[in-house]
Amino acid sequence: MKKAILGVVITLFISCNNNETENVTPENTNAEQADIANNKTALCGSDILRQQRLAEDPAAMQRMLQIENQTNNFIEQKKMGKVLADGSIEIPVIFNVLYSNATSNVSDARINSQIDVLNKAFASSHADVSSIPAEFKPVNAGDTKIKFRLAAINRKSTTKANWAPDDKMKSTTTGGMNATDPSKYLNIWVVNYMPYSTGYVLGYATFPEDAGLWNDGVAMMDEYVGAGGPIATHNKGRVTVHEVGHYLNLRHIWGDANCGNDFVNDTPQQITLHRGVPTYPKYETCGGVSRSVMFMNYMDYSDETTLFMFTKQQNDRMQAAISASGPRAGLRIL
Ligand SMILES: [Zn+2]
Repeated sequence: MKKAILGVVITLFISCNNNETENVTPENTNAEQADIANNKTALCGSDILRQQRLAEDPAAMQRMLQIENQTNNFIEQKKMGKVLADGSIEIPVIFNVLYSNATSNVSDARINSQIDVLNKAFASSHADVSSIPAEFKPVNAGDTKIKFRLAAINRKSTTKANWAPDDKMKSTTTGGMNATDPSKYLNIWVVNYMPYSTGYVLGYATFPEDAGLWNDGVAMMDEYVGAGGPIATHNKGRVTVHEVGHYLNLRHIWGDANCGNDFVNDTPQQITLHRGVPTYPKYETCGGVSRSVMFMNYMDYSDETTLFMFTKQQNDRMQAAISASGPRAGLRIL
């Protein structure tokens, strides 16, 4: 393969500076080869033309400088070990547990299991991968190379059991716990209960537009942290996977509207969210088109036994969020 590439390069090298290509004879080809050997006429025009272009077009110069900046950032991050050798990144995770009783003081084992669930979900390496329907297998994200590493577990006893989804758990001044540098760590707060409206929220996340702010991260009710929690339909740690999906810029698969848009093309448009365990295949009509919907996507609301895939284009959005030029680039830096 290397020889073939070298041949192409030499051919380009010659043709780049050949003004008489239409009349190449064996004789003048030999003459060119002699000139090349003497380092006379053999040049590649790419950089000569580029320099002219950059001198004439400030916008192109600006783009070139941005690309060089991004390239340098990537190389620096690689040196610092945050871009692993296989191209993956490892997001450091801080758990902030606000407990008001023994059950809300989620054990280290459950927290470690949550990291394991996240890693398997983002690598598509759990057993439920075999349950992805054949029609959706081609768009399964596979190994996103987004990994998670437990950095610390902070615990604080509190008499407050009910927390609204209003960020009070994220500040000591309101009885909660301050984040550990949210520009560099994924902070996950764990509380006993989050009543909301007529029910409660299992968890909620900030999106990348809040990257690095004091309240940036995920808040979870303790029942839904890790594997083996008390709620049979939701004890596989996948609510947290869903919330981390939001944190990395994924929208709900139904686009939060009737036949809405999740900005992802390989998730079939669906009418609204699903609950429980829908029967596959499930067809829904949006815009007059009937489609088999992907209720097993992490960004739906189905029971956790039925949530087991991200798509390739969802992964594209997450990669954009954590890329060196993305809003969550800080997660890559030590
Ligand atoms: Zn959600």
